[in-house]
Amino acid sequence: MQEFNDLDQALAFDREHVWHPYTSFREPLPTYMVTGAEGCELMLADGKRLIDGMSSWWAAIHGYNHPALNAAATAQLQRVSHVMFGGITHEPALGLTKRLLEMTPAPLQRVFLADSGSVAIEVAIKMAVQYWAAQDKPQKNRLATIRGGYHGDTFAAMSVCDPVNGMHALFRGSLREQLFVDKPSTAFNQAWDPADLDQLEQLLNQHHGQLAALILEPIVQGAGGMRFYHPQFLAGAKQLCEQYDILLIADEIATGFGRTGKLFAVEWANVCPDILCLGKALTGGYLTQAAVITTAAVADQISAGPAGGTFMHGPTFMGNPLACAIASASIDLLLASPWQQRVQQIAAQLERELAPAASFPCVAEVRVLGAIGVIELKHGVDVAKFQAECVRRGVWIRPFGRLVYVMPPYVISAEQLSQLTQAMCAICAEL
Ligand SMILES: *Cc1c(COP(=O)(O)O)cnc(C)c1O
Repeated sequence: MQEFNDLDQALAFDREHVWHPYTSFREPLPTYMVTGAEGCELMLADGKRLIDGMSSWWAAIHGYNHPALNAAATAQLQRVSHVMFGGITHEPALGLTKRLLEMTPAPLQRVFLADSGSVAIEVAIKMAVQYWAAQDKPQKNRLATIRGGYHGDTFAAMSVCDPVNGMHALFRGSLREQLFVDKPSTAFNQAWDPADLDQLEQLLNQHHGQLAALILEPIVQGAGGMRFYHPQFLAGAKQLCEQYDILLIADEIATGFGRTGKLFAVEWANVCPDILCLGKALTGGYLTQAAVITTAAVADQISAGPAGGTFMHGPTFMGNPLACAIASASIDLLLASPWQQRVQQIAAQLERELAPAASFPCVAEVRVLGAIGVIELKHGVDVAKFQAECVRRGVWIRPFGRLVYVMPPYVISAEQLSQLTQAMCAICAEL
């Protein structure tokens, strides 16, 4: 510890001065000092090693400190780590764009490189609004979405997060009021109930004249509740969007790059959205960068609009070369790996090893899809206590609300994964 005399002093400084995600300075949750990470393990300052169940929030799909990603970063660092994207282009951005076009549904042809997931959502929403404005329909500027969603923390993104989880009350007056329908009630592996689409149909029927787009997370609702819904809902939603002439924005920031067992979750329903948002695992968890990909039809329409059809966005770190080079290396690594087999194996092991938790008194439901395992509790957990117990057992899991869940790096070993599931079950059994 160069900056501080000891670990306690460093953590005290952190507690006093540094915001962490969703915390208060009044009673901040404890933080753990990470000094390194390798493979599926985080190293703590006290020498402890933790098996990572979180992939740093869906991102580190190949694990940490990966030689191929390190090499891509180092090589790009020697050339240029950043250069403005206005009036300049570079191979890292072109290489990444080429890969994204090859791996996403064919109609998606125009790529906007944004600097984070939330910004990607802002960009997607602007695209949808400009698309209609360019057709002299500026009144089509609101969004429809499903409850239980999470799309990020910036204002337009917040406006389509679940109104309760997303704390819309706190920001009333600052947030655009969007149109919500209930979350799909048919779970991923239940028998499909077509009535699940009734509310959405009614909403679109009534409001399509003022709607720019329907935005949703395909198949997996992530931070809004870790729920897995039926592919027929997504397929039906896409049909309704076409019928009522509104765009479909698929937020694959969490689900993209294999997490659900398909490269992209829209593939479960064979759906091509009008606008696709990617982030998180895009750079293998190394740097912040996101991508918004749309069709030629949407991009051409925007470009035919007023003021020369300029698309009104351009962040400073757009297309950051370092992030793009690492993202390309991460995609190459993923596609060259038996990722599908790995995700299936993780899914099967999670099913097997989390199943006993379903009968614990405090557990409402256990569910697994792809490399995502969730124990939903009947009551919220004490995060600080839960995490301390995890750390004692040598694993890193961060629950929220009533959800204890893991989405480990795809390269996790069976033994490491067992250690995660054993900790989850043992701790939940005692709650
Ligand atoms: C994390 C997430 C976002 C926001 O991404 P940030 O990079 O944190 O801004 C948006 N949508 C979904 C589905 C996410 O999981």
